[in-house]
Amino acid sequence: MTSERRYPEAVDVAIVGSGPTGAAYARILSEEAPGATIAMFEVGPTVSNPPGSHVKNIEDAQARAEAQERSEGPGAGAATVDSPGAVTAGTRAGRPGTYLLQDGYQAEGEDGLPVAAFSSNVGGMGAHWTGACPTPGGKERPDFVPGFDGLLDDARRLLGVTTDAFEGAPYSQLVRDLLAAAVDEGRTEAQRVQRMPLAVHRREDGRLVWSGSDVVFGEATRSNRDFSLFDESLVTRVLLDDGGEASGVEVRDLRTGELHRVTARFVVVAADALRTPQVLYASGIRPDALGRMLNDQTQIVYASRLRGLAPASDQVAASGTLQEQSGVSWVPYTDEVPYHGQIMQLDASPIPLAEDDPVVPGSIVGLGLFCAKDLRWDDRVAFADDEVDWYGMPAMRIHYRLTDADRDAIAGARAEIVRLAEAVGDPIGSEPFTLPLGSSLHYQGSVRMGATDDGRSVCGPDSEVWTAPRVFVAGNGVIPTPMACNPTLTSVALAVRGARRIAEEITQNSGAPVRTHDQEVPA
Ligand code: FAD
Repeated sequence: MTSERRYPEAVDVAIVGSGPTGAAYARILSEEAPGATIAMFEVGPTVSNPPGSHVKNIEDAQARAEAQERSEGPGAGAATVDSPGAVTAGTRAGRPGTYLLQDGYQAEGEDGLPVAAFSSNVGGMGAHWTGACPTPGGKERPDFVPGFDGLLDDARRLLGVTTDAFEGAPYSQLVRDLLAAAVDEGRTEAQRVQRMPLAVHRREDGRLVWSGSDVVFGEATRSNRDFSLFDESLVTRVLLDDGGEASGVEVRDLRTGELHRVTARFVVVAADALRTPQVLYASGIRPDALGRMLNDQTQIVYASRLRGLAPASDQVAASGTLQEQSGVSWVPYTDEVPYHGQIMQLDASPIPLAEDDPVVPGSIVGLGLFCAKDLRWDDRVAFADDEVDWYGMPAMRIHYRLTDADRDAIAGARAEIVRLAEAVGDPIGSEPFTLPLGSSLHYQGSVRMGATDDGRSVCGPDSEVWTAPRVFVAGNGVIPTPMACNPTLTSVALAVRGARRIAEEITQNSGAPVRTHDQEVPA
C-alpha cells in the first residue's frame, strides 16, 4: 500500500492541479527559484508514465483505454465519443479521458453548457488534448499584459511546440494552398493559412510524442528534490491568515479520507476554469467577478473530400481520429473574420460513405471553426451553499446564454465553413453541425485577469487574486478576452508570468525558503 505517504507540514508554494498551467508554475519555480519547496496536489490518479504524459503516447490500446477511463473521475464508465464531430446536437457524451458535469449545466430557459467537461488525473486535460497551440491575434490578445509575446515564446518552449511534425503528411500542402486561395487575400503574413503549431514532436525512430504536463515539468522539475507531486489529493480550500493572505491549503488524502493542513507562503490554484473558482468559493474568496464572464467557444464542424485523388499503394485507411499520416492546418482568427479555423486531414469519413467508395488516407478534410463569445457579466459558474458535487465541493450552477450577436456569429461561421469546405473539395453531408455548447473544452473568463482592480476581474496581470494576496490563479479561466483560438498556449504564457513573480519574491524579498518537514499527524 502506498497510503503511508506523508504530506509536508510547510512549503513555499502549494500548487492545486497538475495540468499544463500548474506544471508551468512548477517548472519556472524549479528553474528560477532553486531551493524553494513546492508541493503539487492533484485530485485524480497518475495514469501515465512519466507522470502527466499524454495518454496517446501509450502504445497498447487496452492500456490507453484504461488510462482514459481512470481520468474520467466520478464519471468513469459513461459512454464517450471519440471526436468532436461525433458530438451531434442532442447528444450528451464526453470525449475519452473527460467526464461531464452531472447536473447544474443548464438553468431553465437558458442555453447552458450541456457538455461542460473535466478531466481528473495527473496531467489534467493536457493528457488528452489535441495539442493545437495557435498564437492569439487582434482582440484575442490581452493587450495590457507586459511582455506578452515573450511569454508566448516561453510557453512554446515549455509545451514543446513544433510546426513540422506532420511535414510528410499527404496532401496537407494541397489543402493549405486551396484554403489560402479562398482566405489569404488582404491578410498579413501572421494571419495567413499555415501549419498549425502543435505540442508534439517526432522521436528519432519516427514515432510521434504528444506533449502533456510531463513535457512542461521537464527534467528541471523532475530532478528538483524540493518538488513533490501528490496525486489523489483533493484541495478542499485555500487557507488564509487573519490579514486575508495565503497561508496554506487544506487537503483531503483520497486514499485514506484524512484531512490535512499544509502551510504555504504562496498558493497557486490551477484547477481548471470551472474548479478554480470552486476552490476559491469554498475558501471564502468571493470577489464580485468570481465565476463571471464565463465563455466557451461555439464550435462548428463540417467535412469535405479532396477531388481527383488516386490512392497510393502503400497507404492504408485507418480509423477516423488524427493519425500518423494526417496534417493539421490553421486558418487564423482576425477581427474582420472572427473565427479560429482548425483543419484536420482524416483517414476516414466522419459520415459513412458508400462501401464501394474507398477513402484515400488524408483525403478527408475535417473543418472546425470556433467562435469568440459575446462576453456577458451574467454568464457564470455559480456555486450552491447547500449542495455539494461528487467530491463534496460546492455544487456548480452554470448560467449561460447566447446573445443575438452570438447567433449572428454562429450563422456567419456556418456560412464561412461551407465556403471553406467547397474551396478544398466536395462537402460531405448536406450542412455543417453546430456542436452542443461546452464541446470546445475551452472554458474561459471565470477568474479573469484585469489591468486594474475595477471590480470586473479576479486577478491582476501577475495572476495574483486582488482580494487575497499571495493566492494565484492559473488556467483558461484567467483569460480576459473573448478568445476564439485554442487557449492553452496563452494560459501557460500567463502562468509563466505569475510563476516569475513568485520566484522573484522568494529569491529577492522573502528571505530563505521554507524547509519541508514531513507531517505525521493530520490537522
Ligand atoms: P487542466 O488540464 O484541466 O488541469 C486541472 C487539474 O486540476 C485537473 O487534473 C484536475 O483534476 C485538478 N483539480 C481540479 N480541482 C482540484 C482540487 N480541488 N484539488 C486538486 N486538484 C484539482 N487546448 C488547446 O489549447 N489546444 C487543443 O488542441 C486542445 N485540445 C483538447 C482536446 C481534448 C480532447 C481535451 C480534453 C482538451 C483539449 N484542450 C485543448 C484543452 C486543454 O487540454 C486545456 O486548455 C488545458 O489542459 C488546461 O490546462 P490547466 O492546467 O489549466 O487545466
